[in-house]
Amino acid sequence: MTKDFKGKLFVFSAPSGSGKTTIVRHLLAKERFNLAFSISATSREARGEEKDGIDYYFLSRDEFIQKIKNSEFLEWEEVYRDNFYGTLKTEVERIWSQGKHVIFDIDVAGGLRIKKKFPEETLAVFVKPPSIDELKIRLKKRKTESEDKINMRIAKASVELATAPQFDKIIKNYDLEVALQEAEDLVDAFLGLKCTKEE
Ligand code: 5GP
Repeated sequence: MTKDFKGKLFVFSAPSGSGKTTIVRHLLAKERFNLAFSISATSREARGEEKDGIDYYFLSRDEFIQKIKNSEFLEWEEVYRDNFYGTLKTEVERIWSQGKHVIFDIDVAGGLRIKKKFPEETLAVFVKPPSIDELKIRLKKRKTESEDKINMRIAKASVELATAPQFDKIIKNYDLEVALQEAEDLVDAFLGLKCTKEE
């Protein structure tokens, strides 16, 4: 355990289907970054292969609400109606105590809230999809949500896109290889491992 280590926080936020999860996984695989994934709590049901304590901490709605009342969250959102998602304070403590930096795959409102709470330590990145139509195609291809749920995510995406300028950086995910490289460069620069062109 690395006592008193205060690492960095990397927030990747985007409308659902923008490819932020792929980017986050890519960065997690790079050992030089020393990153650990912030496992969120959620009241939604586990999908497919998802495992409790790995992908999410799956809680009942009542358990989630109790934790809100106990002020156990750094941030939380009712991302979709009756589906709560949030970052537990203990999650950041857990990761920092391992001497690692934290990477978040969370929604736009939650991402901005983390930035506000830790302005110096956080790099908040918005991942932009090519277009709403492309987003719809990607969500359909994923085959994890019903038509209704896809429409709900698309409706939310339009609102979320408007928040992009509030983030520190925007990555346009038009070409995945380019987006992955850009994400690596941003993390390298924020950790002081390499300089970016603009510096
Ligand atoms: P999904 O149901 O597809 O796993 O996630 C739905 C949305 O909730 C995604 O945009 C995801 O990034 C977001 N999300 C996941 N965890 C959190 C969290 O801890 N806080 C917030 N605010 N959003 C989250």
